[in-house]
Order: sequence, then C-alpha cells, then structure tokens
Amino acid sequence: MRIPIIAGNWKMFKTVAEAKDFATALPAIEKGVEAVVCVPFTALSSVGEILSRKNVSLGAQNVHWEEEGAFTGEISPLMLKELGVKYAIIGHSERRAYFNETNETVNLRIKAALKHGIHPIVCVGEDLQQRETGQTKAVVKEQMEAAMQGISQEDLFKFVIAYEPIWAIGTGKTSSAEDANEVIGYIRQLIADQFDQNTAIQVRIQYGGSVKPENIAGFMDQPDIDGALVGGASLKPDSFAALLKGA
Ligand code: PEP
Repeated sequence: MRIPIIAGNWKMFKTVAEAKDFATALPAIEKGVEAVVCVPFTALSSVGEILSRKNVSLGAQNVHWEEEGAFTGEISPLMLKELGVKYAIIGHSERRAYFNETNETVNLRIKAALKHGIHPIVCVGEDLQQRETGQTKAVVKEQMEAAMQGISQEDLFKFVIAYEPIWAIGTGKTSSAEDANEVIGYIRQLIADQFDQNTAIQVRIQYGGSVKPENIAGFMDQPDIDGALVGGASLKPDSFAALLKGA
C-alpha cells in the first residue's frame, strides 16, 4: 500500500518569523497521509521541531552533491541532515529553468541525498511547447532515466516522484486528473522497465501544478496518483490543512 504524501513547496517565501507562525498555527495532522513542508534553508532549524509535533516532516528545496567545498551559495546534504531534514526537492522546474540544473546534476543531487538518508522528491515534467507538440512522454522518459541512472532498487523505494507539467505550475491551470494519471502511469511503467513491476507499484508519484483544496480530491481519486507537490496553496496553514484533509 502506498501512503499518500502531500508536500508543500514554499519556494522563496517566508521569513523565519513567518515560518514559525505557520508551524505554530498548523493543526496536528492526522495519520493516513504523510505531510511534508519544504521550507527555505533559513527556516529549517526554527520550524523542524514544531512541525514534527504536528506530524509534519521537514523538507528542503535543494541539496548539493558534495559534502563540503568551494560551492558558494549551495547547501550540503550533511548540513541538511544535521537539521533533521527528511526530504529534499530535487530538479524542480524552476531550478532547471533559472539555475541551469540538468538531468546530470539532478542525478548527482539524488545520489548525495540518498547517501545521507534524505529522501529525494524528484521533479519531472514538460513545458507547454513540449506538451503541444506531443513530446510529454519523451521528455519525462529522458528525465526519469537520467534520475534513475546508477540507482539501486533499494534506493528507488526511497524516491518520491513529482510529475509537474511546467505550464501548470503557479498558473492556476491544471492538467486534467485523467491526463495526469496517464503520465504518472507511464512513469510507473518506466520504473517497471528499469526494475520490475513490483518495484513500480511501490514508488509514490505525486502530481504538482496549481493543486488547491478545491481540486485535490479529483487527483487523489486517480489510481496512480499518490499525492501532490503544492506551491501557492501550501503557504497558509488553513489551506495546507485543507489539502491534507482533501487527500
Ligand atoms: C510547485 O511549486 O511545485 C507547484 C506545483 O506550485 P503551484 O502549486 O503554486 O502550482
């Protein structure tokens, strides 16, 4: 059985004070669904303990592949681990588009996270032009194959994959639940091709892109969708709690 997982991605929002206010106001999350909030690095140490009292896991929004070194502006898996980080978003489309993240660096970051016991939330998805020209599956295949390069079956079980069509992120437009389920089913097939069917049915795959409390149930009703990666609607405690309820 795959336990649904709802992860908030705060992006570059919230000071430490605002992050603490969120964590304090959030009601305790009931079991049955796993909740994660991926906060800015600056807020990790302040909110981790408050969130854990609410049954919410702590997540980061990136991780470098080296443990230390001359990599100005980057964050090491050791640094995240020390702060109790359980999940790290890797390969978000904003990182790929604005910070030159490639399939190769995504794979390096995934391996570093796994080495230090951090579960990667691996983001894949096509842009609008790719969708309109029928390239969705080819793009996702290339991203998935690169992400899984050199990964053992045991480590693949620790993956969460987020299928996020780029044209749906922060735009208010969503994929239809059926279309999202079809691509996510295809991602499961790619895992089965690389490993086996038994592995594929155990990996959790989220949908991401303008998910809100009002539309989450439609995605969760789909057989292959195991949760959501949520940006905008994860920023307010009542909205985040409503997403978890809707899941
Ligand atoms: C995201 O940041 O991954 C995301 C899906 O954002 P939004 O929910 O705001 O579209």
